[in-house]
Amino acid sequence: MQVHRTASHERSPLSEAAQPDPPVTLMCDKKHIPFISNSPEDTLAIARELGGALRPGDVVGLTGDLGAGKTLFCKGVGEALGIPPDRIVSPTFTIVTEHAGPVPLTHIDVYRLSGAREADEIGMRELLSGDGVCLVEWAEKIAELLPTDCIQVKFIISGDDRREIAVATPDLPRFDDFRARSIRFQPGG
Ligand code: ADP
Ligand code: MG
Repeated sequence: MQVHRTASHERSPLSEAAQPDPPVTLMCDKKHIPFISNSPEDTLAIARELGGALRPGDVVGLTGDLGAGKTLFCKGVGEALGIPPDRIVSPTFTIVTEHAGPVPLTHIDVYRLSGAREADEIGMRELLSGDGVCLVEWAEKIAELLPTDCIQVKFIISGDDRREIAVATPDLPRFDDFRARSIRFQPGG
């Protein structure tokens, strides 16, 4: 994203008018997988399946209203990585929790940060480029800091116990396996 901004500064207004913006080439091709969850247990099961496909260095950005199921989803991912679910919580003032495990898990909740600038000041870039798996709740608040190949999980509350969960993953075989394993939660699956 930074590269893109620098380039646009270098263009004169005249050449900008003559040449339309180049297509955004930094975006990573993603596959979008829709899920319907009818219970907290469904959400945990989807999350465990995704957790099984994750590799060190992956960043997962979770978005959705309060109570949508982001923290519950993080518990499921953590379980797949060998971290007991009761360790993954949403304490009032903790922004970053690091969980040691076979694959280290960094659980970040940026709800209380004002935005990307404040996140940058507290070292978010380093956290996001760590060796383990990184989960970010309220990811939209720091969108410009997220890697282009991050996995996106978007929640919509569509009933007391019903959630629409849209997962976008890089187009890689390990995520095809995830899609196949979680087919029972996909519409028509
Ligand atoms: P968030 O982190 O998005 O604020 P939480 O995961 O902390 O949300 O809480 C989700 C709440 O919604 C929990 O109390 C959970 O039991 C409830 N819930 C009900 N149905 C579902 C569902 N299908 N998926 C996830 N959570 C659900
Ligand atoms: Mg939460």
